[in-house]
Amino acid sequence: LQDHAHGAGIFAGSGQGYLYSRISNPTVSLLQEKIALLEGTRDAIATASGMAASASVVMSLARPGDNIVACNALYGGTYALLHSHLADFNIETRFLSPSISNTRSEIMSMVDAGTRLLYLETPANPTLDVIDIELWASVAEKYSIPLAVDNTFASSYLQKPINHGADIVLHSATKYLGGHGDIIGGIVAASDAITTKIWDSYFNYFGPAMSPFNAWLILRGLKTLALRMERHSSSALAIAQWLDRHSKIKKVYYPGLPGHPSHTIAAKQMKHYSGIVAFELSGGMDAGKRLMDSVDLCTLAVSLGDCETLIQHPASMTHSTYSASELKAAGIPEGLVRLSVGLE
Ligand code: PLP
Repeated sequence: LQDHAHGAGIFAGSGQGYLYSRISNPTVSLLQEKIALLEGTRDAIATASGMAASASVVMSLARPGDNIVACNALYGGTYALLHSHLADFNIETRFLSPSISNTRSEIMSMVDAGTRLLYLETPANPTLDVIDIELWASVAEKYSIPLAVDNTFASSYLQKPINHGADIVLHSATKYLGGHGDIIGGIVAASDAITTKIWDSYFNYFGPAMSPFNAWLILRGLKTLALRMERHSSSALAIAQWLDRHSKIKKVYYPGLPGHPSHTIAAKQMKHYSGIVAFELSGGMDAGKRLMDSVDLCTLAVSLGDCETLIQHPASMTHSTYSASELKAAGIPEGLVRLSVGLE
């Protein structure tokens, strides 16, 4: 700070400068500017994790008595936040099971005067369901409710939700944006009006800020984002095609395969199909567990978007927050295995 007046001016909101790194930091600011440019938004907020990003959005936009309409194919932590933890604040989430036959009127029928946010993840974790962003955006626009899209699986390189009508783009930067499996971070990219609301109503005093060191690592990761996403996508496509021909595989879930139910929507809104492949083994749950315990080249780990190939079992790991009936409703078979194809 230059002097007392400079410090007082920043606190009052009229002065320019960096005061304290929970509030603002030059490295974090640079990351926020770059992500806003990549996503095509006016502003962005970097957060301590992907969960901090989604929690900041839902807690800032919805108040007790309000509701959120969401697709139920979500990362397990997001599902727990929306389904269980928001209920403690008297915020309800209404879930829609994703399907290519979802219609505008079906989504509209879930919205009422208390709806403050529409929320989806595409491609969804772990089923690789691809949700039609334009379809949801048309409902969001009709009712002037913001649409938030978790863009983690595609990354800012493969998919630009804003171009399809979304208002808020979320990331677990822990994944492809960082790209090396060595940080935890999150992103909210949106208009100034929305980021100001998040900042004023939640962010400052709940303190979910990103550390400058993690911001620096993500800035470094971004330099190779395009190359990495091209390679993740081409390797994942080759593996998905190979698995699709394998006699012991019951079903392959990869939006890049022409037989995937939402391949056409994926082709409309994604540049390539990213690096995550899920599959069901003919031998069910036991075969899935045996496979994971006997892999040599893949690392048994629950993250994704790393340089290394990671394998995990959603029903017992990342999606253990879903009950058996909730797994069924979200279309997640108990024997499903998820592979995050690396750069090997
Ligand atoms: N969104 C998606 C699609 C995820 O896969 C994850 C984590 O796996 C998250 C959000 C949460 O991110 P984080 O683990 O960085 O809090």
